[in-house]
Amino acid sequence: MDSDSISILTSKAPTKREEELPDSTDALLSSSDAPQKSSTKSVLFISLVLSTCVALSAAIAIAFLFFSSSSSSNSESINEVARPLTKLKHPVVLLISSDGFRFGYQFKTYTPNINRLIKNGTEAESGLIPVFPTLTFPNHYSIVTGLYPAYHGIINNYFTDPETNEVFTMASHEPKWWLGEPLWETVVNHGLKASTYFWPGSEVHKGSWNCPKDYCMFYNSSVPFEERVDTVLKYFDLSSSDIPSFMTLYFEDPDHQGHQVGPDDPLITEAVANIDEMIGKLIRGLEERGVFEDVTVIMVGDHGMVGTCDKKLIFLDDLTSWIEIPTEWVQYYTPLLAICPPSGYSPKDVVAKMNEGLKSGKVDNGQYLSVYLKEELPSRLHYAASDRIPPIIGLVQEGYKVEQKRSTRQECGGAHGYDNAFFSMRTIFIAHGPQFARGRKVPSFENVQIYNLVTTILNIQGAANNGTASFPQSILLPSH
Ligand code: AMP
Ligand code: ZN
Ligand code: ZN
Repeated sequence: MDSDSISILTSKAPTKREEELPDSTDALLSSSDAPQKSSTKSVLFISLVLSTCVALSAAIAIAFLFFSSSSSSNSESINEVARPLTKLKHPVVLLISSDGFRFGYQFKTYTPNINRLIKNGTEAESGLIPVFPTLTFPNHYSIVTGLYPAYHGIINNYFTDPETNEVFTMASHEPKWWLGEPLWETVVNHGLKASTYFWPGSEVHKGSWNCPKDYCMFYNSSVPFEERVDTVLKYFDLSSSDIPSFMTLYFEDPDHQGHQVGPDDPLITEAVANIDEMIGKLIRGLEERGVFEDVTVIMVGDHGMVGTCDKKLIFLDDLTSWIEIPTEWVQYYTPLLAICPPSGYSPKDVVAKMNEGLKSGKVDNGQYLSVYLKEELPSRLHYAASDRIPPIIGLVQEGYKVEQKRSTRQECGGAHGYDNAFFSMRTIFIAHGPQFARGRKVPSFENVQIYNLVTTILNIQGAANNGTASFPQSILLPSH
């Protein structure tokens, strides 16, 4: 991880000063052993001893209070271990994605059901950090593979393969695009069952995963959310050996509304309340089946959302005095500018000329766009090691957009895809289940850590990935 590191609350060790107290007591006592002759000296000595005793007793009392309180909370966390399954015969992880659920949306309105998961589960205190680019397909696939987009191959929602010139879209299901090993494939490789109620990549036949009928739903945005929840709940009515060990459930909201109106509109509040109702329906269904406490529910989003209502625009045509960027060179405009100049043009030269224009002070909002050779992007973005990533990438400041030319179109809505360092791009991580402590907050982490977390909960060996091997131990309860 680049910015936030994982730390767990550990018991506080005694301070140096507290450890030294007995030694200074010894010193005081030995000095009092010296014979005293004058009465003044005796009075002084007695008052010194008395005040020292009072101070010492106070210090001991404070130290006692400190150690007793820290050891009681400590013993609670030390004693807390994973809770045994009571009804299910094997662990089940239900991974839920609410698209574009920006971190903080959970405070927009009364969300009793999401709050219930938070209160009795473990939450990333300042949200889950998406991968760059903060777009739907790259992020959903990072969550289920533990790989950065450069390594799992889905480097954008749309892109062109530079070798074949074939175009990837959100409807491309040929396995050649989808690298890495998604969780459903890992699970099936271990002889367990998996089910997917939508997730980017889930329809793709890969290895032992062939998107089985009834266990793998083909994407159809018009299926009502209630129907999705009901189908997932029905899996728990199957015989024990048929209940999938890993399930996904996907909702398009509140991303859908976020694009239309930005993150601060009442429409978002309504969408968040509706997602909360879906979580409530799910919890009720699991409770009716007596399995709520046995199932691990992990609720995440893929990225956040930022308002783009302020005419914060940068036009490529404004750079013509320095370099002409024809539309055919541009694979993706915004918020991630991706340019692939034809052979014969030096990408380095193009970057230099673009940046010269942008920094000249003569291009509207030019200072808010920085253009890089992909190898020179900040390494924390992990966005270079794939031929699919075009050679030139532009990063804009929060809320800015890049367009080819000026138009009279009124721009007002929401967007994502920006640098994953922006807080507005953060989303949620809430986990509730037998291996998660109740009411625990953990520091923010990147979504590539989730793959190892799920394989650890399911007690299966995962494929190699960009997550940290020790991450699950830092967030899960010990087994005994
Ligand atoms: P984005 O443009 O990054 O906001 O993408 C969000 C959109 O991705 C959603 O509104 C859906 O229309 C689309 N989407 C989500 N999952 C899938 C899927 N499995 N297959 C095709 N499209 C999807
Ligand atoms: Zn999304
Ligand atoms: Zn979106």
